[in-house]
Amino acid sequence: MSRSPRATPSHATPQPSRAAIPPVALTEPGAVLLVATYELGHQPLTLAAPLAALREAGFAPTARDTSVEELSDADIRAARLVAISTPMHTALRLGLRVAERVRALNPGAVIAFYGLYAALNADMLLRGRADAVFGGEYLRPLLALAQALASGRDVTASPSPERSGKREAKPAPLAIIPTRDTLPGLDRYARLARGGALTLAGYVETTRGCLHTCLHCPITPVYGGRFFVNPRAAVLEDIRRQVRAGAGHITFGDPDFFNGPGHGMAIVRALHEEFPHVTFDVTIKVEHLIERRALVPELGQLGCAFVVSAVESLSPTVLARLAKGHTRADVEEALRILDAAGIPMRPTFVAFTPWTTASDYLEVLDFIAAHGLIEHVDPIQYAIRLLVPPGSALLDTPDAATWIGPLDEATLSHTWTHPDPRMDALQREVAALVEAATQLPARETFAAIRALAAERLGQPFPPEERAPEVRPPHPIPHLTEAWFC
Ligand code: SF4
Repeated sequence: MSRSPRATPSHATPQPSRAAIPPVALTEPGAVLLVATYELGHQPLTLAAPLAALREAGFAPTARDTSVEELSDADIRAARLVAISTPMHTALRLGLRVAERVRALNPGAVIAFYGLYAALNADMLLRGRADAVFGGEYLRPLLALAQALASGRDVTASPSPERSGKREAKPAPLAIIPTRDTLPGLDRYARLARGGALTLAGYVETTRGCLHTCLHCPITPVYGGRFFVNPRAAVLEDIRRQVRAGAGHITFGDPDFFNGPGHGMAIVRALHEEFPHVTFDVTIKVEHLIERRALVPELGQLGCAFVVSAVESLSPTVLARLAKGHTRADVEEALRILDAAGIPMRPTFVAFTPWTTASDYLEVLDFIAAHGLIEHVDPIQYAIRLLVPPGSALLDTPDAATWIGPLDEATLSHTWTHPDPRMDALQREVAALVEAATQLPARETFAAIRALAAERLGQPFPPEERAPEVRPPHPIPHLTEAWFC
C-alpha cells in the first residue's frame, strides 16, 4: 500500500501552500487561538500545556474548548494563528469543521493541527486544510511556529527547524506547569461517579508515548515504541492546582501508567501523602498488570478507584493481529490481581475487526457476564469497530492489501469489510442500540446486545452465567463520560 508508514513524523512538514505572511502582532491577546474540540470529557491538557508554554514566551493566547464552550466569530477573527488539538479521531473530525470556519471567516490566519491524529492525517491536512501539522511532541514546534510568525518569517517557503519534519531523538521537556486559569472550570467536565456521589475530576499525564507497538494503536506510528516522562514536580503542581480548583479525583491519562512505573508510583505516593482523600484512575495494559503485579496492591492503598485496561479481544487470532501481547488467560490473571487489590478493572474492547468471528463476539459477551463485569464496561465498547487511520501500523502488515480498502476521507479511516456480512450488519445495529440506550442501566443495554447478537449470529442464547459475586452488582466507580476514541 502506498504511503509513508512509520516515517509519519511527530511534526510533519507543511508544503508551501500559502503566500508569505506579513509580520503580525502575534503577542496581542487572542492573536494565538488554541482550540480543543473533544477530549473524553476532561479539561484539555492539550490546551493547558501550550497555554503555559506560549504565555511564558510572551504570547497572550486564547483557548477554547468547543465541547463545553462557544468558539465565537470574534475569537476567530482576532486570531493570526489558530492551533487545533487532535489527540483522537473524533477530535480531528470536529477540528476539520473548525478549520473550515476559520478559513471562511479569517482566510489570512495560519492554521496548525497538533496531536496524534494530526500526525497520522498530515498528508490530507496539508492539502489545503492546514498550514502546519505537529504530532505527539507538539509543544516545541508549536511554540517555534508562533515565534517564527511573530518575527515575520515566511513559515511556508523554506525548511526551518520547526518545519523540518524530523523526529527529535529525545525531545527536551519544556519545564512548564500547565495553565488552566482561563479554561472552563472542572464542573463543566466529566465527574467520578462512585457510590451515588459525583466528584469533580482533574486530568494529568506523567508520561507521553508508549513503549509498546500494538498495531492498531495511533500512538505506535507516531512514537514508534518511545515514551517520555513529564517532570514530577510539574505534574504534582498541576495536580495541586486542580485539587485547589475542586478536584477530588485525578485521571492519569498516560497511554500506559506502568511504562514508567517508578516515575508514576512516586507521583501517586506524593499525591496520596498530600491529599489522602483524592482518588485516581490509571490505564495499564494486561501484560503490565501481570509483570508488575507487586505494585498493584499499593495502587489500591493509595486510592486507585479503577484501572482501565485495553483487553480488546479474547480471540488468539485477533490478539495476534493487533500484537497485543496477552491472552485470554492473562486477562483472567489480571482480573484476579486487581480483585485481590480491591481495584475494579474497566476493560476496553475493539469489538469488531475483520478477524473477529461470530463466536469471538459472543465469547466476549459471555466472558463479561461470567466474570461479573457487566457494570464495568461502557456499552459503547460493544460497538467499537477497528479504525485504520492513514499512517496506521496495520497498513504495514504483510497481507494488508488483502483486507484494507481505500482511505475514506469522510471518516478518516481506511475501509474494510468483514468476510461474514452478518458481523458488519451487527456492528451497525449494536451501535444504533447503544446510541438509543444512553439513559438505560448498563445491565439492560448488555442484555439487549446479547439477545441481538445471539439472534443475528444464529447461535443459541447462552445461559446467563454469573461468577460468584466477587464484584458488586451495582455501578462501579467510573467517569461520567464514556470512553470513545
Ligand atoms: S500498550 Fe496501549 S498505548 Fe501502548 S501501543 Fe499498545 S494500545 Fe497503544
